[in-house]
Amino acid sequence: MTGASDNVQAWLDEINHAARTRLGQGQVADYIPALAERDANRFGIAVCTNDGRVFAAGDARMPFSVQSISKIFLLTLALQVYGNRLWERVGMNPSGMPFNSLTQLEAEKGIPRNPFINAGALVVADHFVSAYATPAQHIQDVARSLSGNAGILIDQRVLASEWKHRSRNAATAYLMKSFGNIANEVDDVLRAYFACCALEMSCVDLARALNYLAAGGYAHCLQQQLIAPDLARRMNSLLFTSGMYDAAGEFAYRVGLPAKSGVGGGIVAVVPGRFSVCAWSPALDRNGNSIAAQYALERLSDYLPSSAVVTG
Ligand code: GLN
Repeated sequence: MTGASDNVQAWLDEINHAARTRLGQGQVADYIPALAERDANRFGIAVCTNDGRVFAAGDARMPFSVQSISKIFLLTLALQVYGNRLWERVGMNPSGMPFNSLTQLEAEKGIPRNPFINAGALVVADHFVSAYATPAQHIQDVARSLSGNAGILIDQRVLASEWKHRSRNAATAYLMKSFGNIANEVDDVLRAYFACCALEMSCVDLARALNYLAAGGYAHCLQQQLIAPDLARRMNSLLFTSGMYDAAGEFAYRVGLPAKSGVGGGIVAVVPGRFSVCAWSPALDRNGNSIAAQYALERLSDYLPSSAVVTG
C-alpha cells in the first residue's frame, strides 16, 4: 500500500459514503426468486492487504450470494489438479457476449471462450466433479479455509432455486456434452456448479479468500503457497480480459484492475503485489455487474498510483 493504513480506512469510508449515492439505480438479479428478494440498499467494501490486514466499511461483513465470483475458486482448484491440460477444453479469450450465452458454442464445437462465462465454468466444474468425490462439500471447505471463516455456508434456498430454474445452464452443458466436452453426467456437473454459485460470503470473506491473487499465489489464512506465482499472474490476466463478461473492456477503461463479478452484486478486484478488494451491492446493470460496486472500485483506483493500475 502507499501511505499509512489509516489512509486505507479513510478511502473506504469515503467510498462507502459516495457509493451509497448510487443506490436505487439498476435491478437486483431476478432470474431466481431467492435472489430477487435481496435488499438493494446494501453496500459494503473490504480490502485485504498482502500482509493480512483487513479494512472494511458499510455492510462489509454481511454474507451475500457469491454467484460467478466462485468461478475463480473452481478455476484455481481445477488448474491445481489438471494444469495446462485444462486449456484443451476451454479457451482464454474474451467472449464479448452475455455470461450465459450459447451462441458461440455451436460454431466453436462446444469449446467455451473462457472459464469465467457460464459455459466455461461448467467445463471447469466437470473437471471438478471428476476430481472430488463430494464437490459441494469440498468447495465449502475451500471457501472456509481460504477466508479463515468456518461459518461459511452454501445457501440451500439459492441452491434449490438455481436447480429449479436450471434450463439455460442445462442446455449449455448438454450442448457441450454433445460435442464430447462434458465427461460426467450433466446433472452432477450442474449440482457442483450451483453449489459454488450458492456460497454465501461477505466482502471481508472474499477479500481474504482471494488475496492469493494479489500475493503471488500465497494464501494467508492457509499460511502456504496455494498456486505458483506465475499462475496467479496468469489468472489475473484472464480476470482482466474476461472477468466482467462483455463489459470487460469498459471496466478495464474505468477501473484498470483484474476483477470478477457475480450476479449477487459482488465484485472482487486485485491490485497485484498490494491488496485484494471486494465491493458489493445487489443492484445490477444490464451486463449483470453491480452498479454501486463498479463505481466504488472506480473511486478506489483513483486513490492508487497510476503504476498500480493495469500492471500492478
Ligand atoms: N448462477 C448464475 C448462473 O449460472 C451465475 C451467473 C453470474 O453470477 N454471472 O446463471
